[in-house]
Amino acid sequence: MADPGECSIKVVCRFRPLNSAEVARGDKYIPKFIGDDCVQIAGKPYHFDRVFQSNTTQVQFYNAVALKIVKDVLEGYNGTIFAYGQTSSGKTHTMEGKLHDPEMMGIIPRIVQDIFNYIYSMDENSEFHIKVSYFEIYLDKIRDLLDVTKTNLSVHEDKNRVPFVKGCTERFVCSPEEVMDAIDEGKNNRHVAVTNMNEHSSRSHSIFLINIKQENTQTEQKLTGKLYLVDLAGSEKVGKTGAEGTVLDEAKMINKSLSSLGNVISALAEGSVRHYVPYRDSKMTRILQDSLGGNCRTTMVICCSPSAFNDAETRSTLLFGQRAK
Ligand code: ADP
Ligand code: MG
Repeated sequence: MADPGECSIKVVCRFRPLNSAEVARGDKYIPKFIGDDCVQIAGKPYHFDRVFQSNTTQVQFYNAVALKIVKDVLEGYNGTIFAYGQTSSGKTHTMEGKLHDPEMMGIIPRIVQDIFNYIYSMDENSEFHIKVSYFEIYLDKIRDLLDVTKTNLSVHEDKNRVPFVKGCTERFVCSPEEVMDAIDEGKNNRHVAVTNMNEHSSRSHSIFLINIKQENTQTEQKLTGKLYLVDLAGSEKVGKTGAEGTVLDEAKMINKSLSSLGNVISALAEGSVRHYVPYRDSKMTRILQDSLGGNCRTTMVICCSPSAFNDAETRSTLLFGQRAK
């Protein structure tokens, strides 16, 4: 079994390339990379476990960041990978990428493939039960992306005090294709329910959960691990003037949930023995509670734009990531 006392939090940073509009506008490319764990903006250094430059490919990123977590989850650890950053900084590119393109797919489809490659490599004494859930948190409401009739689910704890989203669809899957079908279905449901998908995805957190149970039928040894893959709402500040109604509510909710996530991660990074960990401050941190502390692997991916135009947001994003170190 995994050692329940062990916990590791990693923070990595990834810069996307300048996009064509930024190039056309003549935007300055501002990051300066120092070694493979430091980036400088206007002379100020920001240190992370790893820093990935704009030319990092999807497979390079996967191998460096996610591969080890997949191995650990298959050994019975829980894990969470987050993508944090302003809208258009590369969060969805990193988590999903182009889902059905072998070169451009992000970490979720690669994780799915590797889990099943592992299963297929095991002998007939190993029995696997894989189930997935897919939901989003918008305006602090949890919406099931695999069942559109479930729009306001709540967080409960089971008898072992493990938190879960009550009533959320758990789909049993037997192949990578079935997982990808579930993801396509969830994304489709998300699109259908909203008028402006870009706006919506920048204001909601999307959470994909893979649950793995394995049993050796000879030794009766059992292992369970789960992995949360989280594409967070955009971290940009909403203009203080002019925002009202839903826009202001959204902004407040996003700020609250991202700052409570930051507080939890930094309390864990400082050592949860001495520091109270404020899991209960948001729905997301309540859900993730047993996949962030204790028996877990946590990686925060800090996604950044390299354009001088986004200078201020990039610095605040980098500072958020540093707090977690
Ligand atoms: P976010 O989810 O943070 O709003 P996206 O992942 O949608 O941002 O990225 C915005 C755009 O930039 C997309 O068109 C995406 O394909 C592109 N992009 C993001 N990161 C990279 C990268 N590392 N390399 C190439 N293109 C990228
Ligand atoms: Mg996105």
